[in-house]
Amino acid sequence: MPTILDVHSHVWAYPDHFSDDFRAQGKRAKAGIELDLTVTHAAYRKSCEQTLREASVRTIVFGGKAKLSGLWVDDRYVAAEVAAHPDERIGFLSVDPTQPGWEEELRFGHQELGLQGIKLLPMYAGFYPQETRLDPLWSYATRHRLPVLLHTGTTFVAQAPLDCTLPRHLDPVAARFPEVPIIMAHLGHPYEGEAIVTARKHPNVYCDISALHYRPYQFFHALMLVQEYGVWNKLLFGTDYPFTTVDATIAGLRSLNQMVAGTGLPRLNTDALETLIFRDPLPLLNLK
Ligand SMILES: [Zn+2]
Repeated sequence: MPTILDVHSHVWAYPDHFSDDFRAQGKRAKAGIELDLTVTHAAYRKSCEQTLREASVRTIVFGGKAKLSGLWVDDRYVAAEVAAHPDERIGFLSVDPTQPGWEEELRFGHQELGLQGIKLLPMYAGFYPQETRLDPLWSYATRHRLPVLLHTGTTFVAQAPLDCTLPRHLDPVAARFPEVPIIMAHLGHPYEGEAIVTARKHPNVYCDISALHYRPYQFFHALMLVQEYGVWNKLLFGTDYPFTTVDATIAGLRSLNQMVAGTGLPRLNTDALETLIFRDPLPLLNLK
């Protein structure tokens, strides 16, 4: 049976790890309704029910740290979640480089907790990934061969500076630290073009397709850009659970071409879509 790796999934305690302000602003994401971001392993596995008939599923999980936006998940929490399901989960640590002690948290999360990659939230925390204060992080990731996944794309949080999220900021990082596998989350939406041209330049820069399928026309257009630039091999499968699920993401990918049936629009390569779903990116990301 093939394995599917979901490279983008969250673990946290909701609402404990969120500020009241973050929760209130979250209502912008869904027409005034507060999101319920409760996450459990059982619910995640249940949401893969359909997929588990044709593949096994492994998941990269992380929490996230961004003082400015009111999100803070201690890496110990992530490590405990991974330890409870070690065959199904791979854990990433997170740091907020605007806060004191982040270098120690990086070392601790990697060396003491055994977390295998780094998740960053530049816009939510209010920093740029290419700032010189992050050089120790990129050097550490190079030395220890750690992949780094960054949120790139939109937010509903007013105080999170949109400029910090632009995929182009990873271009100088990848040029200076070319060995670090970098994943730009959400294909940088709605800056997909920037994400694609950045990934195209740099051999170790990838994009995940998480949290995109529920805007189907935008997703179709983004993947058509991917196809025309010839970078299908730079995409990784991901969900952004609890915002959506493995089953829904796969169904979304497989239905995109139906949306343009009966038109003269070009079609997405269905073999490339299936390869994306079933690709094993562990070797690309130096993960076991
Ligand atoms: Zn996410």
